[in-house]
Amino acid sequence: MTVFTHPEFDHHEHLTFCCDPETGLRAIIAVHNTSRGPALGGCRMFPYASDEEALRDVLRLSRGMTYKSALANLNLGGGKSVIIGDPRQHKTEALLESMGRFLEQLGGLYIAAEDSGTSVADLKVMARQTSNVAGIRDRPGFDGKPSNGDPSPATAWGTFVGIKSAVKHQLGRTDLEGLKVAVQGIGNVGYRLAQHLSDAGAKLWVYDIHQDQMDRAVAELGATPATAEEILYLPVDVVAPCAMGAVLNDQSIAKLRAPIVAGAANNQLASPAHDELLRKHGVLYAPDFVINAGGIIDVYYERTGPDPDAVRQHVDTIGQTLEEIFQRSERDDLPTGQIADQLAEERFRHIPR
Ligand code: NAD
Repeated sequence: MTVFTHPEFDHHEHLTFCCDPETGLRAIIAVHNTSRGPALGGCRMFPYASDEEALRDVLRLSRGMTYKSALANLNLGGGKSVIIGDPRQHKTEALLESMGRFLEQLGGLYIAAEDSGTSVADLKVMARQTSNVAGIRDRPGFDGKPSNGDPSPATAWGTFVGIKSAVKHQLGRTDLEGLKVAVQGIGNVGYRLAQHLSDAGAKLWVYDIHQDQMDRAVAELGATPATAEEILYLPVDVVAPCAMGAVLNDQSIAKLRAPIVAGAANNQLASPAHDELLRKHGVLYAPDFVINAGGIIDVYYERTGPDPDAVRQHVDTIGQTLEEIFQRSERDDLPTGQIADQLAEERFRHIPR
């Protein structure tokens, strides 16, 4: 296995390979860049088919966190960790505590948060050994209600703010009354986003693989149910992917009829080239790692002291950041994702230490 010549290696500052035969822990912690502050990012547990696959994932994901936090103007760097194993079979308290000890050894360089395969409860077990975990404290939530640290409300609000920014830019409208929006995935983020859109007068179409989620949106928000095949291709104003990644690919982009794609799902582009394909197709794409940054902003404030108003104000800046990206995209004749990367790099490179 190569590291320094790995295709996903991007001048990562630190890479830690963690091994504890007693608990069966095998993990990799990647710290991409800490010029803005300690690296914060999820700790993922997944039954990777090979060490190479785990390395590729952690290198790619940690780099993504640097860009996301820089664009959200947080004093955070980018990092991520992966535990190699099946969370249903191999996750034990001993293994999680062992991971906590490795986090502690890094002395705050990297702070772990929940990710796929790990839960708030798992992070709390790690926290027995270290304070370098985030998103675990009961506190007033983003909306002022008691919260267990779930970042979804802040992510949903940020996505709503981002949709407003995209609508203003692309359609020249500041109100959402009668705006047609198709939401794919009515989960923690998607449902709350649909609520905000409904409150603002938008007309909704929804699809979720779970019928009960759809039924709820239809009953409570007056949404129109759509099918899996049609949700992305409806003649609406905005398509909001809020389920899984890689939904924007050669096939789907050719069939899109909405002038805007703006949703919370991570890694919506099947490949970087699809950024340009969307632009060629006349679609304004709100880069996912910009519009869905509400969650990381929320987690950041848990560490600095819970302050729902400050979180809200900070999440609202997602709208301005997107507007800057949209304007630069037009000025420089480049796709929005590429502009977002450039803007992030301006914010995390060359910071005096
Ligand atoms: P979730 O699991 O609560 O919701 C996802 C929903 O999508 C579920 O209701 C699921 O049934 C549905 N779904 C799964 N496959 C689908 C498909 N093929 N078609 C339609 N629906 C499908 O997850 P979430 O927390 O709401 O996150 C949604 C997306 O946003 C994910 O991509 C996540 O990575 C991203 N995201 C979430 C947060 C956050 O704060 N929760 C932050 C940043 C990014």
